[in-house]
Amino acid sequence: MSYRPGRHFLQIPGPTNVPDRVLRAMDGPTIDHRGPDFQALGKRVLSGIRTIFQTKHPVIIYPASGTGAWEAALVNTLSPGDLVLMYETGHFASLWKKLAERLDLKTEFIGGDWRHGADPAAIGERLAADTAHTIKAVCVVHNETSTGCVSPIADVRKAIDAANHPALLMVDTISSLGSIDYRHDEWGVDVTVGGSQKGLMLPPGLSFNALSEKAIEASKSSRLPKSYWAWDEMLPANANGFFPYTPATNLLYGLDAAIEMLHEEGLDNVFARHQRHGAATRAAVAAWGLDVLCVEPKHHSGSLTAVLMPGEKGADALRKTILERFDMSLGAGLSKVADKIFRIGHLGDFNDLMLVGTLGGVEMGLRIAGVRHEAGGVEAAMEVLASATEGQAQQAAE
Ligand SMILES: *Cc1c(COP(=O)(O)O)cnc(C)c1O
Repeated sequence: MSYRPGRHFLQIPGPTNVPDRVLRAMDGPTIDHRGPDFQALGKRVLSGIRTIFQTKHPVIIYPASGTGAWEAALVNTLSPGDLVLMYETGHFASLWKKLAERLDLKTEFIGGDWRHGADPAAIGERLAADTAHTIKAVCVVHNETSTGCVSPIADVRKAIDAANHPALLMVDTISSLGSIDYRHDEWGVDVTVGGSQKGLMLPPGLSFNALSEKAIEASKSSRLPKSYWAWDEMLPANANGFFPYTPATNLLYGLDAAIEMLHEEGLDNVFARHQRHGAATRAAVAAWGLDVLCVEPKHHSGSLTAVLMPGEKGADALRKTILERFDMSLGAGLSKVADKIFRIGHLGDFNDLMLVGTLGGVEMGLRIAGVRHEAGGVEAAMEVLASATEGQAQQAAE
């Protein structure tokens, strides 16, 4: 392929654009992972990552994609045949369920239409009916990346408590960590699953389990087989800044830089920036006369927006046009919504002008591909970006 000048626009909802500062941080020597320099790095990232999950408890770092951390959450806490209650928010919730089934767990789905976040009342009702406490864990995806719907995790916790049910709460925050407010301790989550390549602005290759005391306790009697994922191997090594096997040293350099950058901006500012970009994107979609897949305004995601294609035109042809003409990648519709939607990622290392460029590429693509729409989406987004302070945009989004 011939040279394409300028930056590629990687506007899929992960992997996201990796900032130069992270790339430069990773461009260092791969050092002895049992030596003193590594120990200082290990201690720094293992404590720093807790501030991103908003937890005082240990966070395990795996050299794996997010899927590995999904598996780790389950195999460390559960036993063969255990029943897990999961919520069908979309494609990623469905994949986590499939993974659980392959691990010899029983699963039950609370069905969803892929246009809403999880309903805490439905979870509460199911748990209240489970008087024998056969359900051992409740699994919810915080930001469902296939739909752009956010689930109210604090309310899920309240529903579990109101039902007086001892199930563990496990949450996938792979595409919300570092972009949408998430509080592991305050919301009483037992295991939070995270990944490096979305809000954390790193390349793929790291994933996380944030733990609670209850989760660590459950791991002591859990009987699913585990070795590579075993927390009891990780925790004692991590206490000294080390890992039981070779860590992804250069990705940890990147993580160190990313944590520093998130705190330089301030987590609250990071979250407000994403909400504001979500609001501006939805303003563009509305001006185009198109619909956002997520129908509940209070569930709208700050990290991505899924847009429904009008009429008969396929979303994949539109994405292909935009890639070829403007060198921009947009997210595809996955499984149930394949070719019916496209997803605009607006998370990670991203600013107002990048969003205007992104939406300009989409609007030109709609025109070239002959998709029925109104002009003026970019204009509407600019109106939001130019006028709203972060606080106002957040209110408008609610
Ligand atoms: C990206 C993503 C995953 C999958 O993570 P991999 O790194 O591809 O294994 C799982 N859940 C959610 C919500 C995601 O966004």
